[in-house]
Amino acid sequence: MSSSIVRKSTQSLKSETSSKNTSIISVMDTQSYGSSTTPDGTTSPKSFRHFLNERSLKRQPSLIRELTKQFATAGPGTIFVAGGLPNPDLFPYTSLSLQVDENTSINLSGQELRAALQYQPTMGHPVLHEELLKLVKQHFPPPHWDNTGLIVTVGSQNALSGMLEIILENGDPIVIPGPCYSSALSIMDPYSPTYLSVPEDSDGMQPDALRSVLQKWYGTNSPTTQVNGKVKNDFKRPKILYVNPTGANPSGIVIPTERKKEIYRITQEYDLLILEDDPYYFLHFLQQNPTTFLSMDVDGRVIRFDSFSKVLSSGLRVGFATGPKDLIRSLELYLQASILHTASLSQVVVNGTLRNWGTDGFRKHMESVKAFYKKRRDLMLAAAEKHLTGLAEWTTPKAGMFLWLKIRGVDDTFNMVMERGIQRKIIALPGREFMADKSKPCPYIRLSYSVLPEDQIEQGISRLAELIRDEQKR
Ligand code: PMP
Repeated sequence: MSSSIVRKSTQSLKSETSSKNTSIISVMDTQSYGSSTTPDGTTSPKSFRHFLNERSLKRQPSLIRELTKQFATAGPGTIFVAGGLPNPDLFPYTSLSLQVDENTSINLSGQELRAALQYQPTMGHPVLHEELLKLVKQHFPPPHWDNTGLIVTVGSQNALSGMLEIILENGDPIVIPGPCYSSALSIMDPYSPTYLSVPEDSDGMQPDALRSVLQKWYGTNSPTTQVNGKVKNDFKRPKILYVNPTGANPSGIVIPTERKKEIYRITQEYDLLILEDDPYYFLHFLQQNPTTFLSMDVDGRVIRFDSFSKVLSSGLRVGFATGPKDLIRSLELYLQASILHTASLSQVVVNGTLRNWGTDGFRKHMESVKAFYKKRRDLMLAAAEKHLTGLAEWTTPKAGMFLWLKIRGVDDTFNMVMERGIQRKIIALPGREFMADKSKPCPYIRLSYSVLPEDQIEQGISRLAELIRDEQKR
């Protein structure tokens, strides 16, 4: 690959602007990220249109959703006759109380409750949106704050699937870690992508392997490659690098800062967007919070996905995406058309919890969540040490909920887990689920230490040891 290919594609799209720009309802503004700020001098993307698929470029704002947004932030006295809002006075609820902890409760009635039960803007309930911007600013502020957008979503899965839906074309190459979060693969699989799978070591995706996978792709598929004397013009440029950097599901790795920087540099060279899927960010067992791709994003090429599933509650279904305003705007248009918005009541509960706790309360809560999972992890590691030594290999999970085991002497764990494991009353997850190519044998399994009661951990692992021993004899 020559970097001129990347520059050309970026430049050629720079002049494209939306035909429907008005002050309130623009499809997308062209943002500027200073080219001088990129470490290796490559031209940073000024427009994001070359990342979006045809469907997404055709999508227009929903007028009714845009006006709902206007109304939500309009001053008192605004008369709104545009929307099909049900009259909240007819909702049969009068108050709602939720005790969070000894000192914190959420009590809703009157106007606050009506807002919690009413339609809200697609970007999110304004009170939560504001609170989340503060959280991002405090924990992982991106360098170009003014160009950063944030949207509240139905868990992070909704944000991730929406973002992939607006970017991917059938057959696109996608850079993923090997192994990869199985439900990310479930979103991507129907696009029949070519997976450029980059193996992980104990620090996650390996930069050398990433570079060579990309070099190979551009080398064998270069847009200038001649086939029978003709220039091949069906070249598909990788647009996305998907990564799950903290407590990766399933491997439990955390990518250290230096490696993140290296990966970021490579994405600059190859003009890739980074989809930073980080639902276990607050659930690490390290001394310090990890750095994030978002906070090092001088170019505007990172979209970060956060979630309250592992922090407050998975059933509330609240997450959010943060990234370049233009891309968040494209995601907003998709969500305007698909879900309208994330459940207002859930957003109000998350907001009430965060606000009432304050920074200190949130920190204390996360400390206790982390301590809980760390204890479970340590118990599982101790049991593995005792029963699985010689039968399996693993690295210590540095965050998250998973232990990723490579089983010795077993080529493929699928039938071992799905048939004989279930018969013996030990249900784990076969590693193939996390592989780009599920037709290949895979010697891994994923165990979770999050919900298993402490006194069952050792029993579970010793049952697994018996299963492996029998399997090795087959
Ligand atoms: N990404 C990863 C890596 C996950 O493990 C999960 C949850 N299994 C999600 C995203 C989705 O989480 P949420 O509940 O926020 O949709």
